Amino acid sequence: MESLEKIREEVLKCKKCNLWKTRKNPVFGEGNEHAKIFFCGEAPGYHESMTGKPFCGAAGKILDKLLDSIGLKRKEIYITNIVKLRPPNNRNPTQEEIKACSPYLDRQIEIIKPKIICCLGNFATAYIMKKFGLKDKVQGISKIHRKVFLVSTLFGPVKIIPLYHPAVATYNANMFKIIKKDFEILKKEE
Ligand code: URA
Repeated sequence: MESLEKIREEVLKCKKCNLWKTRKNPVFGEGNEHAKIFFCGEAPGYHESMTGKPFCGAAGKILDKLLDSIGLKRKEIYITNIVKLRPPNNRNPTQEEIKACSPYLDRQIEIIKPKIICCLGNFATAYIMKKFGLKDKVQGISKIHRKVFLVSTLFGPVKIIPLYHPAVATYNANMFKIIKKDFEILKKEE
């Protein structure tokens, strides 16, 4: 039977793209298997790859502050990335890597059946919106952040919410304010 554990085991030994050649730890994803809110980032960075935990570096610290600002705990949400292995030197994931890895994300979504999917940044936004039939509505994150798209899926209605990637606020306090405001929408839509 399909389960997160089964997918995790497949990810551990995955060689579907070349990233396995430089891998430390795959970053499968973590959180609540029954989460209403599912966060999807891009790909692990250095710290994530060293620990196997999603969003545990600088961007993760910002994400924790944002979650805290709306009273959400990591253990209430589920969080993962499109690509489970770190692209060398934190380069963007390639289309081949996304194509090879995204079926794992699709299966995670099918198991968790979230009510809200938050797409962190351009890559996650483009992938998730296309997956749910919103290809025509995809725009850059600066245009589309905080919009709510309602889609129907086999497991019921889902709201898709593009958000800035928290890494953009690492050196920019103004961006932090903007993202914090965007996060307020999650409380409203929950
Ligand atoms: N950036 C991401 O997109 N994902 C992580 O897990 C860490 C940083």
